[in-house]
Amino acid sequence: MSRPVVRAAIFGLAAFAVAAALRREDRKPLRTPRLPAHRRQFDNLILGAGSLLAAQVVQRQLLGPLLEADAGRCGAVRMLPASIRPVAAFLALDWAMYWWHRATHRVPLLWRLHRVHHVDLDLDMSTAIRFHALDQLVSAPTRAAMILFVGPDARAHARWNLFFFASVLFHHANVRLPRGLEERLAWVLTTPRMHGIHHMARRDATDSNWTSGLSFWDRLHGSFRMDLNDEALPIGVPGYPDQLGVAASLALPAAPSADDWSSRRSASNM
Ligand SMILES: [Zn+2]
Repeated sequence: MSRPVVRAAIFGLAAFAVAAALRREDRKPLRTPRLPAHRRQFDNLILGAGSLLAAQVVQRQLLGPLLEADAGRCGAVRMLPASIRPVAAFLALDWAMYWWHRATHRVPLLWRLHRVHHVDLDLDMSTAIRFHALDQLVSAPTRAAMILFVGPDARAHARWNLFFFASVLFHHANVRLPRGLEERLAWVLTTPRMHGIHHMARRDATDSNWTSGLSFWDRLHGSFRMDLNDEALPIGVPGYPDQLGVAASLALPAAPSADDWSSRRSASNM
């Protein structure tokens, strides 16, 4: 099969999977939504469009040229036998993103941007794209460094990127999978229950399940949790219960420092 046909088939399958997941979100939700979905999802889609646009700029101006120039020729995986390079590159990129996500919670400036994603009071596939556009720009040097240090070729990077995006959509979905199936999946993949704990409105819950791709990085680093029930805690960041609109979200990184993890204000939309 020619490349365009394969791409069209992959895109068609992905669109079908997303549509099926959206229907299942309504029929079999993992958590009961707290807010009316339409307004919230509209705001998330607007923020997501800005973020994806910023990601495209980064890809075109920085990452694409790096990969095309094969600038990773001296990267770590180039020292390995050719047969295992694609797998090694996949694992290394995924592991690096685990650490980057930890950094977005630990470094105050990065957390100011990342909390725009975390203040959502419900969690569904629209949350998966709810990021501040500056988040993409600030992470660009790190992603460029990942390419230079790891050294994937363009194809290996594209494969991991596709997996990563599909994984992010999947684990933000508000879908109730059979518990046994989910526990088995969670040995390898990041699942909706697992990532739901990362979005719960308590610091110790948020400081777990950092991975966005393969799940075993959390097991390896002792940050894996599956011990909280689906609705044990609300979703969100307690200090910012009413920062969901587009304008408020874009301004949120500049909000005065506060105790993010205590409910300091009354929620106008809770
Ligand atoms: Zn996070």
